[in-house]
Amino acid sequence: MVGTTIHVARQRAPCGRFEEGRRHRESDAAGLVFDDLTYACGCRRTRHEFHDGSVRIATVQHDGKVLADEHSADHEG
Ligand SMILES: [Zn+2]
Repeated sequence: MVGTTIHVARQRAPCGRFEEGRRHRESDAAGLVFDDLTYACGCRRTRHEFHDGSVRIATVQHDGKVLADEHSADHEG
């Protein structure tokens, strides 16, 4: 896995606060991609693409509350 982390300018986090964040992206040669955005307050938005082409997108508030958790199993590109 190859990972990179970049700083993200202040924007609205899932909880409604305006926070800076860090975006961490990892991928491998076979098509696996983890793209995670973590805000300073602790909120997270994650996008994970799996080897079978499915995509999971989750939004979790800093207190642990899951605001969205979608999994697409029929992603055909
Ligand atoms: Zn938050």
